[in-house]
Amino acid sequence: VRDHLESSLVPRLLVKMMRGLGDTIYQRPFIRVLAHGHNLYLRTPWPELFSDVPRVRFVGYTERLRTQAKNMRRNRRLYYWPQPHSIPTVKARYGISNPYRGIIPDFEAVFGVAFNPNFFDLPNLGQCPIQADKPIAVVRPVTVRNEWANPARNCKPEYITEAIRILRERFYVVTVADVVENGEWFDGTAPEADASFHRGELHVSQLLSLVRHAAVVVGSVGWIAPAAVALKRPLVLIAGGQGAWNAPEIIYDSRLDTSRVRWIMPDRYCRCAPADHDCDKTISNFGDQFQRAIHDLN
Ligand SMILES: [Zn+2]
Repeated sequence: VRDHLESSLVPRLLVKMMRGLGDTIYQRPFIRVLAHGHNLYLRTPWPELFSDVPRVRFVGYTERLRTQAKNMRRNRRLYYWPQPHSIPTVKARYGISNPYRGIIPDFEAVFGVAFNPNFFDLPNLGQCPIQADKPIAVVRPVTVRNEWANPARNCKPEYITEAIRILRERFYVVTVADVVENGEWFDGTAPEADASFHRGELHVSQLLSLVRHAAVVVGSVGWIAPAAVALKRPLVLIAGGQGAWNAPEIIYDSRLDTSRVRWIMPDRYCRCAPADHDCDKTISNFGDQFQRAIHDLN
């Protein structure tokens, strides 16, 4: 197979991908388009997200980010291709348009292909990792990492606590995080739920399968934002601050189906850019707004 592929006339392309889990979900539709005309060499720590894409090879490299490196170790048998040299290369990034137009328009520019919203999805990554006697609500608590620390983006942790309290009346609430000493910690205290996976117990396939089987997904801006939309699950996003990077029109695009997304915005939404700004994140009547959002989605 290798000789056959190597000798074919299909051009090769190396893609150095952005390494965030959420970023990777955003990049997938572009990879799906490019896979039609290329033998792709992907430098990504999340190979699972491309398990259904033909003619993709995963290039080994040294990964320093913690959760990414952990996932590469889990999948080490997939990384048997050395990084090819002197072939056309795309380095994915966003934040390059000026004024900044959003993640998807910027990826269109760097990948050089049009965004196809039908390709904004995820492969089937297996069974739901938990069983519950009520509909499942997946809640992503707010955390901060020492890598790419971004506390400004998070909503106030007390809104997550209140959301869980409200959800538990009707849902089986599952909280997910990958907290580790000196690496990633809760913004505020660890929330209590019906089931908590706070130490990275669920690997990425299980995490995304859990989202696929959720009746609702709740949290602040992060990987759940693209994951829930890709999996067509109802989503309540509780905004924090740093709107220059996280506002609804920046992280979504008018071509995406966001009909199942409800935003709860701070009274005075801060549209700053720095990751450590002390944004005003106050949301008046949060409980009422959250109840309305959940009612609206179910
Ligand atoms: Zn701010």
